[in-house]
Amino acid sequence: VPEPAPTVVKTTCPYCGVGCGVLATPDGQGGAAIVGDPEHPANFGRLCSKGSALGETLSLDGRLLHPAIDGARASWDDALDTVAGGLARIAAEHGPDSIAFYLSGQLLTEDYYVANKLSKGFIGTPNVDTNSRLCMSSAVAAHRRAFGSDTVPGCYEDLDEADLIVLVGSNTAWCHPILFRRMVDARARRGTKLVVVDPRRTQTGEEADLFLGLQPGTDTALFSGLLVHLADLGALDAGFVEAHTAGFDAALDRARTIAPDVAATARATGLAEADVAAFFALFAGTARTVTAFSQGVNQSAQGTDKANAIINCHLATGRIGKAGAGPFSLTGQPNAMGGREVGGLANMLAAHMHFAPEEVDRVRRFWDAPRIVTGEGLKAVALFEAVRAGRIKALWVMGTNPIVSMPRADIVRAAIAKLDLYVVSEAVADSDTARAAGRTTVLLPALAWGEKDGTVTNSERRISRQRCFLEAPGEARADWAVLSDVGRRLGFGGAFAFEGSAAIFREHAALSAFENGGSRDFDLGGVRDISDRDYAAAPPLQWPMPRARSREGRARLFADGRFYTFDGRARFVAVQAPALATTVTEARPFVLNTGRVRDHWHTMTRTGKSQRLSAHRAVPFVEIHPDDAASLAIANGDLARVSTEAGSAVLEAMVTESVRPGTLFAAFHWSDATASDARVGALVRGVPDPVSGQPELKATPAAIEPV
Ligand code: SF4
Repeated sequence: VPEPAPTVVKTTCPYCGVGCGVLATPDGQGGAAIVGDPEHPANFGRLCSKGSALGETLSLDGRLLHPAIDGARASWDDALDTVAGGLARIAAEHGPDSIAFYLSGQLLTEDYYVANKLSKGFIGTPNVDTNSRLCMSSAVAAHRRAFGSDTVPGCYEDLDEADLIVLVGSNTAWCHPILFRRMVDARARRGTKLVVVDPRRTQTGEEADLFLGLQPGTDTALFSGLLVHLADLGALDAGFVEAHTAGFDAALDRARTIAPDVAATARATGLAEADVAAFFALFAGTARTVTAFSQGVNQSAQGTDKANAIINCHLATGRIGKAGAGPFSLTGQPNAMGGREVGGLANMLAAHMHFAPEEVDRVRRFWDAPRIVTGEGLKAVALFEAVRAGRIKALWVMGTNPIVSMPRADIVRAAIAKLDLYVVSEAVADSDTARAAGRTTVLLPALAWGEKDGTVTNSERRISRQRCFLEAPGEARADWAVLSDVGRRLGFGGAFAFEGSAAIFREHAALSAFENGGSRDFDLGGVRDISDRDYAAAPPLQWPMPRARSREGRARLFADGRFYTFDGRARFVAVQAPALATTVTEARPFVLNTGRVRDHWHTMTRTGKSQRLSAHRAVPFVEIHPDDAASLAIANGDLARVSTEAGSAVLEAMVTESVRPGTLFAAFHWSDATASDARVGALVRGVPDPVSGQPELKATPAAIEPV
């Protein structure tokens, strides 16, 4: 009798915002064979090193498998009673806004939706933020300022069809590898030119036709200079600017004060004049230009202005909403976009609605919410400061590790100790965040990738299914189910009577279409009635999918020159001149930049299980230029202590010309759970962008010395 064919499950990679399709074939023993999904439009079968090693990360080693209260194993009933009872008591004694949630771009949209509904609609606290604040909130703010909505205008096909791709603050070759492969393919197929703008000469920079290794934080000068150059050259799309935008003159006037010509741009950025001139000529002469930007832009105290300076140049040339042309935000996390959709950021309500009175009322009526919040809550940095100050009494952390990843991570840990109630929904038993404790601490075991079921949205607005193909281990449960149980215990039963992730998705889609009338970008009306069966089998879908267009998404927006501002016009933004929020001193003469390595993800709780991935960069390190290393008598491989105003860490020196003199680079992946005295988050000063609240993670004044 022939063996039955193994079941192949289509799912989505849990790492970066490219959102690659994965085929998982479970082996019946808790493992699975993993390959790329050839039908998924993000990756067409390809996977990068992290995605292809997913099968090596499925063991239950180190998993949190049972609830615990103050370190002792507990039943789910006792754990949920403790959570619900504690939240009710704290809300009654201190007000609902003494309760906070800190969520994650790793959560599925359905989990995110229920967390947001429970907190902002029923408990009544606006203090709900997410690690996506550290990832792309400046892109969100820039989109809203320019387009009136948080809309990524283009799609991945634009990268295939561009003649010029400008990558700003993005080591795409390592951090969005499958998209980078598409760019390299475009170069081979149609001769696409690649310009890389980055203070570090990363692998992406090595592959560039033109590498612009500018001084840290000077991006607004480069793109201000470009705007001036386009205007002086007559390379604007004057008809587009006139018909579809507002604010051009003010933006151009400001740009002239920052970088009036090529020579001034070169001085302001530290680039060679010839390189600046070459870039400007390429941009001016190439209609099909995509400018893709990532954390080097976003993770900055001027991140919103940096993104708007880029968008200004695309609006000025009418290069938006067209094949092969547009500004493009590369999202870091697998579901940062889904978190934006449900309102997981403190400055959003739900379904891309904010806090205009009519929007608050619309969401209140849709949810029949007893305590709808009416204004913005605390963003991540301010939220943890409020924990430290004792204003936040209860904190529920879901699927993230802020004691490693937040700036001033030592302060975050000390703050958590002050909480009356500290709840952690986590798949990992011994993460730094799960090890921490408040006065009462409840650990709730969560499902991990391969066990949970729902949707994620990638950088091009494409919603893909994450499907389960493994049994739930121990007593781990879906986050949405746990949140719903707490909602019922708090007396909100009917609003949290979800039967499964499909029901949550339908409600989320219905809210997006509720009294929408095409006035907002985010609209899933075409799938508001999706059946359980169709949800289970859903192919990747791109929003918007308004009811009238059924389930057919739209690859590009703004092709008609209509934006989501009140008058339909896009806005130019007069950006600020570049200035680092904190400057170097004699005692701390280096600028510390932080970021990722190729083969690890976030705080290594999954990728750390793969020996193959760990071999790429085995120890925590700091990159230093050879001239600086020589002057400090630091040799390659030496241990060095890096110190900042916020803290210190001991890292292995990597002497390399990839960093500029006077700068350092360290990856933030290592934690107390994986190394000793090596949490780079503890070094980061983290001054927030005044518009987006996204903290500066790329430029902290630092000292370095041999150990
Ligand atoms: Fe996963 Fe991103 Fe790699 Fe694709 S590019 S396989 S989504 S980590």
